[in-house]
Amino acid sequence: MPNSIDTSIQFLKSIGPKRSEYFNSIGIQTVHDLLYYFPTRYLDRSSILNTKKVINYVVNGYEGEVTIIGEVVDKELIRYGKKRLLKISFKDEQGFFECVWFQGIRFFKDKFNENEVYAVSAKPVITKYGHLQFAHPDFDLFSSNESKEFVNTGKIIPFYRIPQELRKINFGNISFRKLIHNAVIKYLNELPETLPEYIVADNNLIDIQTTIQNKHFPLNKTLLEKADYRLKFEELFYIESIIAIRKYNIKEKTNGFSFLLNKQLLKDFLKSLPFELTDAQKKVLHEIRLDMESSKPMNRLIQGDVGSGKTIVALIAMIIAITNNKQAAIMAPTEILALQHYEKIKSFLQKFNINVYLLLGGQKAKDKKNTYEIISNGDPCIIIGTHALIEQKVKFSNLALVVIDEQHRFGVAQRLKLISKGSSPDVIVMTATPIPRTLTMTVYGDLDVSTISEMPKNRKPIKTYLRGENKLGEIYSFIKKSAVNGIQSFIVYPLVEESEKLDLKAAETHYNELKDSIFSEVKVGLIHGRMDWNEKKDIMNRFSHKEFEILISTTVIEVGIDIPEANIILINDAHRFGLSQLHQLRGRIGRGTEQGYCILVAKNSFISKRIEPTFSFEFLSDSVIQKNKTIIRLNAMAEHTSGFKLSEIDLKLRGPGDVFGVQQSGLPNFKYADLINDYNILINTKQQAFKIIYNDPLLKKMKNKLIKYIIDKKYSDNIKYMNTA
Ligand code: ADP
Ligand code: MG
Repeated sequence: MPNSIDTSIQFLKSIGPKRSEYFNSIGIQTVHDLLYYFPTRYLDRSSILNTKKVINYVVNGYEGEVTIIGEVVDKELIRYGKKRLLKISFKDEQGFFECVWFQGIRFFKDKFNENEVYAVSAKPVITKYGHLQFAHPDFDLFSSNESKEFVNTGKIIPFYRIPQELRKINFGNISFRKLIHNAVIKYLNELPETLPEYIVADNNLIDIQTTIQNKHFPLNKTLLEKADYRLKFEELFYIESIIAIRKYNIKEKTNGFSFLLNKQLLKDFLKSLPFELTDAQKKVLHEIRLDMESSKPMNRLIQGDVGSGKTIVALIAMIIAITNNKQAAIMAPTEILALQHYEKIKSFLQKFNINVYLLLGGQKAKDKKNTYEIISNGDPCIIIGTHALIEQKVKFSNLALVVIDEQHRFGVAQRLKLISKGSSPDVIVMTATPIPRTLTMTVYGDLDVSTISEMPKNRKPIKTYLRGENKLGEIYSFIKKSAVNGIQSFIVYPLVEESEKLDLKAAETHYNELKDSIFSEVKVGLIHGRMDWNEKKDIMNRFSHKEFEILISTTVIEVGIDIPEANIILINDAHRFGLSQLHQLRGRIGRGTEQGYCILVAKNSFISKRIEPTFSFEFLSDSVIQKNKTIIRLNAMAEHTSGFKLSEIDLKLRGPGDVFGVQQSGLPNFKYADLINDYNILINTKQQAFKIIYNDPLLKKMKNKLIKYIIDKKYSDNIKYMNTA
């Protein structure tokens, strides 16, 4: 029989082939897997109290869980009204206490028998009759047949997630603990270290065997914390190593194009603009310029809040490409946005001899074919489009700069598709929802980051209001009055994924209703996703030429749309939108010099729940946050204008399990670390991993061989991600 850490668990005592199937179903095939199957929670029974002490604790306001040992003296089934309650009374040397159950009564009634001794753990309360009571406690039979080792009061006790099938055959926590305990005794010293010795030493980590031992059977709290720390550290260290290798592969291994600057032309262009670039735009532009001049391909993320002026920065990069006789492409997630870029960019370039083309899925085949030809001829030009750019038919022959706008709306595969249409082109990805720092170090860790950290000077912060539906009348009056004074408004209705038709109907119905009633004296337009792009183009053009004052819309206007004269946005059913979506929608206004107003309307019941007066997210407990996500989102919008702040709140609301982008990023899922609480470990591991890869990119040095071995073995799925440039 094989006798190593890779032994199949069916050879373990108490398992066998039948049971091993149940274990396989939770991912445990070998002893190694078993050792890495960690408890989901622990109960600290290291200090046991008696009734007198517990009563003292409660009286003094202590609210935690305690463990107490007592002997069963009485069982009682109590009925009150239709409900039932099981009460089991215990005694210890200092007095009496009782445990109560409201559910599973039959099971628990048979479980406890007079004279048996139990260790009971739960949060204590004192009833109005003065009794010490525990509701639905955890318990261990003290004088059972199991060896004392596992009954285990007096220690920190692990609890495992155990499949139903195993529980059914009485393989519960006690058996599980015993199984793991035996495995630890027999196999732990064969478990190989997974981090290089010098990293363990430099970072004061505990070794892997001590880690595993204490994850299952913590000697004390400190060691359990150290074990957790080591697991998080290791996980983040390897993730950061993969990112560092990817960055190396993209940047160092390949050669890109070194662009030359036509300084005079750039000067002329900047002079032709109706505004001066902000210092932040200039700084980012400088970073881009250095990248473009270098022979290494640029791979840069430009983040800047909605309205901070990313387009113009990207356009200047494109101009640099064109003046080097190359092609530049910019991809936007919606037809309206692509169209808007096309028109804006064309007007910016009016006095310059640069060709600009538009490519959309909805265009006529003939027009598209024309554009395909121009693209494949390799003539230097700017091509603006949607997903239509990444179709097979589109063959660039001279593509040297790729810009991806609102990148979060594209999948990794789509981004790569466009990039692969050039040969090692320079790449700029842009995002309007600022990305929390933890994500720029992970999901976007291979990109260099430029931040446009200020808004153009002429902007006033948007005022945001949260109102119930009962206030719609007043809001409409405000919109109408503003329209009469020439201030334009958006009125947005949400889009439900399942039923685009229904929504459309909502927007359409409201349009028909509103234009003939309250807004009968002003002009109203309608736009929605189902219009073809010509209709959309027409509506947007007419709106920007102020042919109507109010635009009723579905969420098609969510990203990028730039109508500087629109200064009011009313968002209906605001509770149905996510935070970044709300922020994006709000970003449609306040893009000029006038004061912008964003009015979020939600069901009255939401508004009445408002957490007044100033809610401060930092001070809310996790459970309050989880229960009140919607109202917190709405309040956060009313409270903050900074997209950066909102993105951090969003991350916290979503929770670590659902961090945007991780799933589709090609990175492994996080098992131990989370991006919200482990920021410091993340920075630390990032610095170390990047330094190691910088000095030893192929991990050839003796001391780093283990890193390479582990990456090859454990992260082979992610290698693909590491190599795609
Ligand atoms: P975003 O960063 O959200 O993509 P845009 O690039 O669409 O923002 O810019 C928003 C608006 O601000 C546009 O009308 C643009 O022409 C204008 N803009 C850009 N830079 C400046 C600036 N430095 N000063 C004034 N207006 C600017
Ligand atoms: Mg934009």
